[in-house]
Amino acid sequence: MSHARELLTLAPVGSPRRGAQLRELCIIPDGCVAVAGDRIIDVGTSVEVLSRVRRDDACTEIDATAHVVSPGLIDPHTHPVYAGNRASEFEMRIEGRSYEEIAEAGGGIRATVRSTRAADSDALVLYTAARLERMLAYGTTTAEAKSGYGLSVDSELAQLRAIRTLAGQLPIDLVPTFLGAHEIPDEYRSDRKAYIDLVIHEMLPAVERDRLAEFSDVFCDRGVYSIEETRTLQHAARDRGLKLKLHADELASTGGAVLAAEVGATSAGHLIRISDGGVRALSESDTLAVLLPGTSFSLGATHFAPGRRLVEAGAAVALATDCNAGSCNTESLQMAAALAAQYYRFTAAECWVAMTTNAAWAVGRGDRIGSIAPGYQADLVIWDMEDHRELPFHFGVNLAHSVIKGGRTVVQQGSLCDG
Ligand SMILES: [Zn+2]
Repeated sequence: MSHARELLTLAPVGSPRRGAQLRELCIIPDGCVAVAGDRIIDVGTSVEVLSRVRRDDACTEIDATAHVVSPGLIDPHTHPVYAGNRASEFEMRIEGRSYEEIAEAGGGIRATVRSTRAADSDALVLYTAARLERMLAYGTTTAEAKSGYGLSVDSELAQLRAIRTLAGQLPIDLVPTFLGAHEIPDEYRSDRKAYIDLVIHEMLPAVERDRLAEFSDVFCDRGVYSIEETRTLQHAARDRGLKLKLHADELASTGGAVLAAEVGATSAGHLIRISDGGVRALSESDTLAVLLPGTSFSLGATHFAPGRRLVEAGAAVALATDCNAGSCNTESLQMAAALAAQYYRFTAAECWVAMTTNAAWAVGRGDRIGSIAPGYQADLVIWDMEDHRELPFHFGVNLAHSVIKGGRTVVQQGSLCDG
């Protein structure tokens, strides 16, 4: 790939970027990337790289003249495995009902649990594939993917197996996260302790036995899991060899971000209602703040996570879609960038960092993806942009022109390639 007008290398710095580093994209004008197999082997200006790299007949050359080129985007917080359609709930919200009111009336996560339990595994794979293909077409080459719409041993495992199946079928890397503690299922409403025991004593051992997840997540919030319950669940998950993530301080400030730092979580997501203590805890820890502006937007919120304040305080921030069945029905990280610019006051550079290298650290892969550097996976996006600042500016359309995954072109002119 040669002659990129702007090659955003996001050259690795060995850890997530914070503060002023969030504006360093390490841009090479007239940039060139050489790839062998699924790895990047050389990066520099076109003159430099083309003079250094030996090309044979099997070599494919891609001309990126007039385009911006970036690492493949990484979505570090998604819930793509589900059945059913909650467009009617969105309409109820537009008409003034709150997320919590709808949940009390049997809607929300529990409605998706009913339809997901009823779907067979082929259907679940099919529905999820459509979402992942849309992510790819929009430039996402790695996505974290959570279970959490089953809330029974069989259904949670079925979702994690669907993720494994799709990781083998589609040219997108998936990072599986077990989210058995996403809600309390209807049949355990009167005995939540029994459900927590089920997660700890049946689901987690099965997840560990079949190596179905890398991370464990818990929805720690008002009306869902308390701080004490979350701590118990996450200690049990850590004992099973899982790394940790948290849904924290979304609906109310319950101390989730502080707990995420305390248990050494890789990331904490949402943070709309994060306290001053939570901001401090994340700034002083290695836990990434994963911000999901699409959720606030889709819920019609006027209050967004304090993205700017987190950056100024020194937290390492990443952006994700939260792609899910109800509160944020989008696969587009480009949309998340547009919202982050408006509602967090993130610059374009901060959006790029938050969706590439920092997002890679948020899924435990900062040493392999999220940057364009020798030895890194050859995941690249060629954009229909001549200036990287167009990312949050030109919104609501797909600006990804071509997507290269592991050295292979998988999206061309915005459409998935066959095979
Ligand atoms: Zn979520």
